[in-house]
Amino acid sequence: MLFCKYKKYQNMENWRQIQKNNFRDWETLFSFLKIKSPPPIFTSPSFPLNLPRRLARKIEKNNLNDPLLRQFIPSQNETKDCKGFIADPLSENSFQKTNRLLQKYQGRVLILTTNACAMHCRFCFRQNYPYQKPSFDFQAELDIIKADSTIQEVILSGGDPLSLSNQVLSSLIASLSQISHLKLLRFHTRFPIGIPERFDASFLKIVASCPLQVVFVFHINHSKELDELFFEKVKALQKRGVLLLTHTVLLKGVNDNVETLKTLFLNVVQKGIVPYYLHQLDPVKGSFHFEVPLSKGLDLVKQLRKILPGYAVPSYVRETPYHPYKTPLI
Ligand code: SF4
Repeated sequence: MLFCKYKKYQNMENWRQIQKNNFRDWETLFSFLKIKSPPPIFTSPSFPLNLPRRLARKIEKNNLNDPLLRQFIPSQNETKDCKGFIADPLSENSFQKTNRLLQKYQGRVLILTTNACAMHCRFCFRQNYPYQKPSFDFQAELDIIKADSTIQEVILSGGDPLSLSNQVLSSLIASLSQISHLKLLRFHTRFPIGIPERFDASFLKIVASCPLQVVFVFHINHSKELDELFFEKVKALQKRGVLLLTHTVLLKGVNDNVETLKTLFLNVVQKGIVPYYLHQLDPVKGSFHFEVPLSKGLDLVKQLRKILPGYAVPSYVRETPYHPYKTPLI
C-alpha cells in the first residue's frame, strides 16, 4: 500500500522523467558528442556512466578534454593503484552511528539519505561507500538525533538527497522539525546542476514551510554547469529565505586555473550565492589523475584574492579524518 502511494507520487514528478533520459551508455553519448576517436572505455558496474542530458548538451562536440566531460568520463587511470589513494579516504566507516548516520564534527550529523545521484562524478569520495538497501524509514537515525541535544544541525547528503521524492523528503523534514534542539537543516547537492527542474513547486513549498533555517550547499565545479534555469530556481529558494553556498572541488584539467575559478565564483556571487569551500581532492582510489598539487592550489587562491572581493574567494580546505573541522590550507 505504502509502495503504491510513493509510486503514484513519483509519477507526478516531472524531474524523474528527465532523469530517466540520462546518458547511461558510452556508445550513445559518444555519438551524441560526435567524438571521432573514442578512447577505450573502462566501465565500472558499481559506478557506471550517469550523465543528465542538460550537462551533456553543454559539452563541446568532439572534445574529450572538455571540462564537463572530464568529470564524468571513466578513465583507465581508475584501474591503477596510486600510493595514498584508497577506497575510504575519509575513514567514514569509523564515524557511523548507523550505516547512514555519520557524525564527524561536534553539533552536526550527516544523514546519507540515499545512494542515488543525478550524475556520477568520477572523483566522488563516496563512490565506494557500503550503502545498504535503500529504505525510506529513518526512525533509527531520528531516534539518535532526538536523544542528543548537542546536535544543532542535520546535513542531508548521500548520494544526493534530492534523489528522494518530495513525499519522502517532506516526511523526513517534518520529523526533523519536531526535534526542538535542531536549528539548521543543510542539503548537500549537485542534483540541480544537472536537473534544475528538481526544484518543483511542491519541493519549494516543503522548503518554505520548514521551521528550521534551510541551507543549500551546491556542488559546482565549473561555470559551464550553470545556466538561466538553475539561477531561476536559485531565486525561488532565496525568496523562501534559504541560505545558499557552493562547494567546489579543485580538479586537474577541469578548473585548475585562475580564469576558470574566477569566472565560476563571480557568476555565483552575482546571483547571491556565497562560494563556501574550494576543496582539495579527497584521495579516493582511482582518482589520482584529478589531483592538483597543493602548491598549485595555494598559488591559485593567492591570485584569486588579488582579483576578487574577499567574499567571492572560498575557503581552501582539506578534510582530514579525525580532525575536528575541515582544515583551512591558507
Ligand atoms: S555524491 Fe555528489 S560528487 Fe558523488 S557522484 Fe553523486 S553527485 Fe557526484
